[in-house]
Formats: sequence, C-alpha cells, structure tokens
Amino acid sequence: MFLDYFFNKFSYDLGIDLGTSNTIVLAVGKGIIINEPTVVAINKKTKDILAIGVDAKKMLGKTPDTIEVIRPLKAGVVSDFDIAHKMLSYFLNKSRKFYKGSFAFAKPRVLLGVPSGITEVERRAVSDAAKTAGARTAFLVEEPIASSVGAGLEVTKPFGILIVDIGGGTTEIAVISLGGIVVGKSIKNAGDQLDSAIVSFAREEFNLVVGEKTAEECKIAIGNVLPDAESAKLTFSLRGRDVKTGLPKTLQVNGAEIKSAISSPINSLIVAIKDTIEDTPPELIPDIIKQGITLSGGGSLVKGLEVLISKQTEIKVKLADDPMSCVAKGCAKILETSELFNSIKLL
Ligand code: ADP
Ligand code: MG
Repeated sequence: MFLDYFFNKFSYDLGIDLGTSNTIVLAVGKGIIINEPTVVAINKKTKDILAIGVDAKKMLGKTPDTIEVIRPLKAGVVSDFDIAHKMLSYFLNKSRKFYKGSFAFAKPRVLLGVPSGITEVERRAVSDAAKTAGARTAFLVEEPIASSVGAGLEVTKPFGILIVDIGGGTTEIAVISLGGIVVGKSIKNAGDQLDSAIVSFAREEFNLVVGEKTAEECKIAIGNVLPDAESAKLTFSLRGRDVKTGLPKTLQVNGAEIKSAISSPINSLIVAIKDTIEDTPPELIPDIIKQGITLSGGGSLVKGLEVLISKQTEIKVKLADDPMSCVAKGCAKILETSELFNSIKLL
C-alpha cells in the first residue's frame, strides 16, 4: 500500500503509439516528447543495433550488405522481441531526459496502443518488452479505441462510432460502443500499399525503378483520390533507374497519374469500410449516420480521401485533427482520466 503510494507520487505516465511507421510518446502533462520512425538498423552478422528512429530511416535503401534496416512492426505486431525491447528501451530512456530530480529515477506507467485482434502471445510480447525496457506497469489498449479517444470521440457511451485508422502497414476499421469494439477489421491495406502501388506504376508504365521512400515522398506531395482539375495538374519528379539502360532517370508524373496508380488499394479500403458497415448491428447504424465516420492515422491525409469515402458510403466523414497523433493522445488521455481508465476495456 505504502509502496504503491510512493511509486505513484514519483512516477509519470506515458501514452505510447508503437506504430508500424512512427512511434509517438506523449507524456501526460507535457505533450508529445518523441515522434520518430519505427525503424531500426542492425548489423546483419552480430545483430547489434546501429541506429534507431530518425537516424535509422535515413539509412533506408542506402546500406551496404553488412547492414539491414528493418521495420520491426511491419506486420503490425512485434515479430522480434529482442529488437522491440531494445527499441522501447531507447525511447523510454529518451523520455526520461524530459524529467528532472526524483522523477529522473522513477519508472513510468505506460499505456501502449496495439492492433485490435492481436493474439495473447503477441500481447505478452509487447507488454514484456515494455516492462523489460523500464516501464513500471504496461497496459495495452486496442488502437481503434485509443485513436477514437484521441480524436475527441465519446467511446464509453451506448452510442456507436465508426473509426478508420489508416496507418503505414495496417488499417484498423472499428465500430465502438460502451468502451469496447463491437465490429472490428484489421486489413493490410494502408499507406505502405499506396507506396508499393506507385513503385509498380513507375516500373510498368515508364520502366523506371524507384525506391519505396521516393514513392512515399511522391504520395505525400501529390497523392490524391478525387478527379479534380487542381490536384491532377500537380507534378513530382520521380528519380530512379531506367530498367533497360540501367542508368539514372528522372520522370515528371502528375496528380492524375498518381490517382490512377493508387486506385486499386484505395478501392479495397473502401470495400472493407462498406463490409464493416454491413456487419454492424442495426441499432448502431443511426448513431454512425448521426456522428459520421472519423478518419485518423497518417494514411488518412491523402488528399480527397474523406470526400471519396463519404461519396461511396453515403455517410458524412470527418478527418481527425492531427490524425497521426490520435493513438498516442488517446493513450495519454485514458491514463489521466480515471473515468476512461475504468470503463475502457484494457488488455
Ligand atoms: P502507423 O500507425 O502505422 O505508424 P501513421 O499513422 O504514423 O502509421 O501513418 C503513416 C503513414 O501515413 C505512412 O504510410 C505515410 O506515408 C502516410 N502519410 C503521412 N503523411 C501523409 C500525407 N500528408 N499524405 C499521405 N500519406 C501520408
Ligand atoms: Mg497507427
């Protein structure tokens, strides 16, 4: 009892979004303290970690044979415990630097967002990795719930909300009511697939080999999903290598071309949203129509996506404020609000 009091007094709370693309740590009372790519560079032979986060992402596609740059959460879950643990240790150590005095020695309470539908073994891997990395206690929450809270939605009422969180590796589509997921879908169709679609397009249409990072830059600069004249005219210089000559080549692509390049993964995403609506219990449908669909995650920033989804589902759609930080914001808010902490289903 006394120890609990003591630890609570000299502890701090962190909401952590260990995303497939980006890791965001939000300290309760302080705001976002870490926002870095979930990327690790390792020595292939010794398995030693050479760089984590921003420094590792800079190495992507530029490494010699001896170094491998990996995204340890590529499939949305922790596949390599050792690397996940080292990565979390690095981020928790970095977080500690934001605390002074007695807090500098304290261990934080953390709440981590995890993809919905992860297995018991995978859950344990994440929470053990967080504890071994220096967390005092590690709670887990399903990402769609965290991102809904972060987007400012009421998740604990008997009222259905529909959230679509489009990340790098996965899109989580969920209907939430009374603090839990009623219908949920996790699909491997998100930001990364748009990048791959641009890579394939450049190769098939122009015999141009481009890297995933270049494709992502192109998507962020001119990616769009609506046939409006303005975005169709935007251009981007795709730099890569000519398949035939093997020599460097730069090609101007426009918004209309990129729109058609990414149309297939975008359509699959919309089909998955429609399927989720079809599986939703009828009593929750009026709530969803009233509130609309909420989009979060970095992938939702593709220009025109909310308009297209609204057209296709005939339900209004709202893009969350600062969609990339919704999960971390939600995790921190659940930790600091006892009403949420007590009524949301934590894992
Ligand atoms: P995760 O939760 O998987 O870490 P994030 O929510 O951080 O993913 O989103 C990462 C994805 O968002 C990446 O695929 C990235 O390319 C994409 N993204 C980020 N900004 C934009 C933008 N302005 N337009 C389109 N896609 C974007
Ligand atoms: Mg995410």
